[in-house]
Parts: sequence; C-alpha cells; structure tokens
Amino acid sequence: MKYTFAYWGNYTIAIKTLLEKLGIDLIPPEKTSSKAIEEGSKIAPELYCFPLKVNIGNYLVAIKNGAEKVLMVENVGGSCRQRYYGIVQNKALKDAGYNIDVIVLKTSPKEIYSKIKEISGASLLQIWGAGRFAFKKLRLIEKLEKIANYLRPREKERGETSKFLRWALDKIDKVKDEKEFTKIKKEILGKISKIKIDRSKKLPRVGLIGEIYTVCDESINFGIEEKLAREGIEVHREMNLTYHLKKGIFPWKDWQIQKKIMPYLESTVGGHGRDAIYEMLHFAKEGFNGVIQLLPFGCMPETTVRPILEKIHQKTGVPFLSLSLDEQVAEVGLQTRIEAFAEVVNNHFIKYNK
Ligand code: SF4
Repeated sequence: MKYTFAYWGNYTIAIKTLLEKLGIDLIPPEKTSSKAIEEGSKIAPELYCFPLKVNIGNYLVAIKNGAEKVLMVENVGGSCRQRYYGIVQNKALKDAGYNIDVIVLKTSPKEIYSKIKEISGASLLQIWGAGRFAFKKLRLIEKLEKIANYLRPREKERGETSKFLRWALDKIDKVKDEKEFTKIKKEILGKISKIKIDRSKKLPRVGLIGEIYTVCDESINFGIEEKLAREGIEVHREMNLTYHLKKGIFPWKDWQIQKKIMPYLESTVGGHGRDAIYEMLHFAKEGFNGVIQLLPFGCMPETTVRPILEKIHQKTGVPFLSLSLDEQVAEVGLQTRIEAFAEVVNNHFIKYNK
C-alpha cells in the first residue's frame, strides 16, 4: 500500500522522514499549489474550514501519483472541527468517486503507537528512532525559519536568506542518516551565520499570530513573512509545532495562558484561540509595532477571538490586521493590504521607537 499525507509547509520534510524511517511506502505530498486548492475546494463541503479543502487538494495530487491510502492526524483533545477531519475527508473523497481510505491517527500517544505499529510493523525501538530523527529535523527547520525572519529585513543582498533557506531545506530533506544530519546541521548553521546583514539596523517589529496551519505554511499564507521583510519589518512568530507539542506535554501551560487572558476570555474556544489573545497581549507589552492575525476562512476559534484582538488593539494602540484566507483570496489583494499595514507599522515605529 502506498501512503500519502497532507502537505504542511517545511514540516512536510520532518513528517516524510518519520514515515520513511518507519518503512512506510510513501508518495510524499507535493507543495500546495493554487490548482490543488481549487480541486480540493470543488469536492470538499463548501462551509468547512479552509485547511480541510487544501488537504483534500493535496490528496488528489498524490492519488494521481499513485497514493492508495491517506494518513492524517486528528486532534482528540481539541474542541474545533479538526476532530472531524478524518470522517469528512473520507466521505468527500468517496462521494467524488475516489476509492481511498483516510487512516486517522488520534492524538493520544497510545493510539498513535498502536496504529503506527499496525501500519508499519516497526518495533518500539524503530518508532523511537524514527521519531527522534524527525524531531531533530523539525527543530532545525524551526530554528532556521526564526533566524531567517531576523536576517531577511537586514540582508545586504536582497533575497539571499530565502535562497539559502531553500538550499538548506533541500539538504535537510535529502539526508537519510542521523550522523550525516549532525554534520549537515553544523554546515548549515555555519553558513547562515555568514549571510551579510546590517546589524545596526533598528527595525519595526510585527508579531504573527493565528491558526497554526496557516501561520506555518508559506504556500497557504503567500509567504507573508517574506513579504513583511521586504517592507523592512522584522517578523516574530511563536506559534509553531514545538509550541503546540509542548502544550500537549505540559498541560499546565494552558492553565497559565488562561490565567493571563482571564479579563478577555473566561473559557476555551478551541484551536489556538486562547493563544492568539495571549500572544497579542505579549507583543503589545513588548512594544511591538504591529500584530497580524492569520486565519483560515471558516475557522471558528480564530473568528471568535477576533473581536477580542480588536479590543486589545483599541486599548493598547498596537496596530492590528486580521487576514482571513481561503480559495478566493488572490495574492495581489493580500500584497496591497500588507503594504498598507506596513505603512501604519512604520508610522507607529517612528512615533514610539525612533
Ligand atoms: S483551528 Fe480553525 S481552521 Fe483549524 S481545524 Fe479548527 S476550526 Fe478548522
């Protein structure tokens, strides 16, 4: 059986490594394209949230390439629509005539372990080894993305950081052995530190918050981090997979977040809605010059907290932009809104930080 999974930005590399190391026969997903989004949207339920449509679009491409089964992770603990993704995707594909099963991995360690064991036949030791290697790749990817956000608006040769990042990600993708990976990691970190930048530049800072899938995948958010860097803005993003995993491992983190946001929201709204409020309060306190919320159209948690984020904007004066993304959004429209917001951010910076 040939398996596939949904594309998710640079994390696709780590997920691919995990499954390959487990010996699963894989048709890796291709980078999300506008065509894939269009095709996925045609057969997905119209009012479902945007990531589900994109996922289906990814599967359709992989099915054409020979995939016979889909693996997807479903969040059992959350209280948003993600917990129904498996069943809805299965039905949408079957109704459209595709004879393919969506195998759901529920986010409970016990269930993930038994399902992976059943599919791959790997031993506990092999699963542990594959997980460790994939996690090392994931951490390096996140580190590089963070460094890139600092370098891009300061680089002396425009585009050098993004070009380097593409080269580094390709290297990370191709390395199959953990020892070799350690060498490559050293090489990548050594080279990235040599990118020429203007360190004396003091720049406006913008915090990127919102729904995890959208903020982490540049093929969905039209490379918003790069776009902001081109406007001379330093982007900060806390929301990533490690953040999410840590919250699963240390459940009291949610309690701490809830305590901080209590004056604005007294209960959970699902997804990362609470986190968005928490992060915006943090960025405002740190004197950031703007906050952008990214959300997929139809996302209940992010839509619910949007008025609260507006309220924080009014109270603190930190410029705020909320961008809802779906299959109808055109890059040129988004670019115009970012340019306009960049002007507001720059004015805030001149007023308070220069
Ligand atoms: S967080 Fe939002 S976009 Fe993501 S699955 Fe939940 S409702 Fe859908």
